[in-house]
Amino acid sequence: MALPTITLDAGDGRTIKLPTGLFIDNRFVPSVCGETLDVKNAASRGSLGYISAAVAEDVDVAVASSSRAYQSKWRHVAAAGRRQLLLKLADLIERDLDDFAAIESNDVGQLYGTTKGMLGPMSVEWIRYFAGFADKMEGRSANWDDAGAPSGLSYTRREPYGVTAAIVPWNTPLMLTCWKIAPSIAAGNTLVIKPPELAPLSALKLAQLVIEAGFPPGVINIIPGLGSTAGNALAHHIDVRKIAFTGSTATGRMILEASARSNLKKVSLELGGKSPVIVFDDADFDQAVAWAAAGITAGEGQICAAGSRIYVQDTVYQKFLTAFSEKCKDAAFGNPLAAHTAKGPLISDDQREKVLGFINRAQAKGIPLLHGGNRVGNSNGVENTAFFDVPANAEIIEQEIFGPVAAISKFSTEDEVIQRSNDSNYGLSASVFTTNLSRAHRIAARLESGQVTVNGWGMLAPNMPFGGFKQSGFGRDGGAEALDDWTVVKAVKLVVPKL
Ligand code: NAD
Repeated sequence: MALPTITLDAGDGRTIKLPTGLFIDNRFVPSVCGETLDVKNAASRGSLGYISAAVAEDVDVAVASSSRAYQSKWRHVAAAGRRQLLLKLADLIERDLDDFAAIESNDVGQLYGTTKGMLGPMSVEWIRYFAGFADKMEGRSANWDDAGAPSGLSYTRREPYGVTAAIVPWNTPLMLTCWKIAPSIAAGNTLVIKPPELAPLSALKLAQLVIEAGFPPGVINIIPGLGSTAGNALAHHIDVRKIAFTGSTATGRMILEASARSNLKKVSLELGGKSPVIVFDDADFDQAVAWAAAGITAGEGQICAAGSRIYVQDTVYQKFLTAFSEKCKDAAFGNPLAAHTAKGPLISDDQREKVLGFINRAQAKGIPLLHGGNRVGNSNGVENTAFFDVPANAEIIEQEIFGPVAAISKFSTEDEVIQRSNDSNYGLSASVFTTNLSRAHRIAARLESGQVTVNGWGMLAPNMPFGGFKQSGFGRDGGAEALDDWTVVKAVKLVVPKL
């Protein structure tokens, strides 16, 4: 029986049809036990349709396919072949950016222009960047003639793991999926991807392009499903040699535990954040306000690197509060597919209630509210919200909210703001606004954070590593450093008998 398709509004008078099966061996197939997921429109909460949902048996089938593909064919494909396939995939994603933008608007509630103009092109560039590494898997060589050792040569090889896996969260799923595909495939692995249950549709569109690009069956398998079943089975799978996880710190711990309990597969974790934004009184004030506002309102604050703790020097604090509030408070809420919309919904009822819970508890503690604080009408949105004079031990300073909620506090000295910025379990991202170059470098060096942006926020580039310190995880998603996570190093020692 043919599987149904899902039809989406493309926002430009067209509709988009998407397959609904699990993508295994370049075919869309139902789950072995007929399991399905109801995919919701993020804005209306109405059903977009049902897709197949993987259970443990499907994970076994996908991993077996991935293993077969690796052993029988993929490991013999030359680097140039891998590069060409990735470049072709990047071209196809670029061709279909309108569709991806519409899919993410329907599925995630992400603004159309955000995918079309920024995250989509970034996904394309990520794949192109890593395609270039396919033939640059270089090791090093060393002389091996120390006294007592046989004479010879030693060198290292960077080799693929074989079958690898990726588990992706619901915020920016297209981009994060491409962040996993690009280095894994460039390095010569096969990959099983578990998309997020709340936003699986861009992955199904990607699956169509994997076929069109000409990837051999089984090289990229995509199996939507619940975290507790499909994700859990993948993390425990004995034949998966490496798993890359992006998601919450709580689930990240489970992935690490699953590795420890199964086959000690290599794990990389890109987890949550509580990122500081530091504004000094010598900063370009308007720039600092604009970036600080973008840092907590972009993607409705549902971004791992959201600048959710804002520290402002006391000499410009009052002025900042006024300007920041002006910038944030009246963003036009609406349909994420529409061009004029500046603010969309949160992904789900649960997420909305979670965010409102943080807001209500902060208000109950008497933390002063600068603006916002409510649900937007009866919608799935939450007003851009900011609290000020937030004490260091407040829940909204310590915990990741994953919503458009800023916690603003004032500071006096450099030492004080560094101490307060670093006083967090997280360490994913940080921003510093200053025109003092010495201070910029000094602070960048002292912040416990995987990335520091001076006079900006959230700037991503495929040629720079992205990842966390502390409980924001380990492993890197961009830059040459990412390849360390997708390859294993072998030392080869060659004995050359002396004449
Ligand atoms: P989540 O941890 O709930 O889910 C992430 C993924 O893990 C989903 O695909 C889910 O199905 C799966 N999962 C859930 N339970 C699992 C289990 N027991 N075993 C295996 N897989 C399981 O996270 P989320 O709510 O989807 O995403 C939001 C979180 O992701 C935030 O904490 C955010 O900071 C983080 N995030 C981090 C980065 C980064 O690069 N550091 C990027 C984006 C999002």
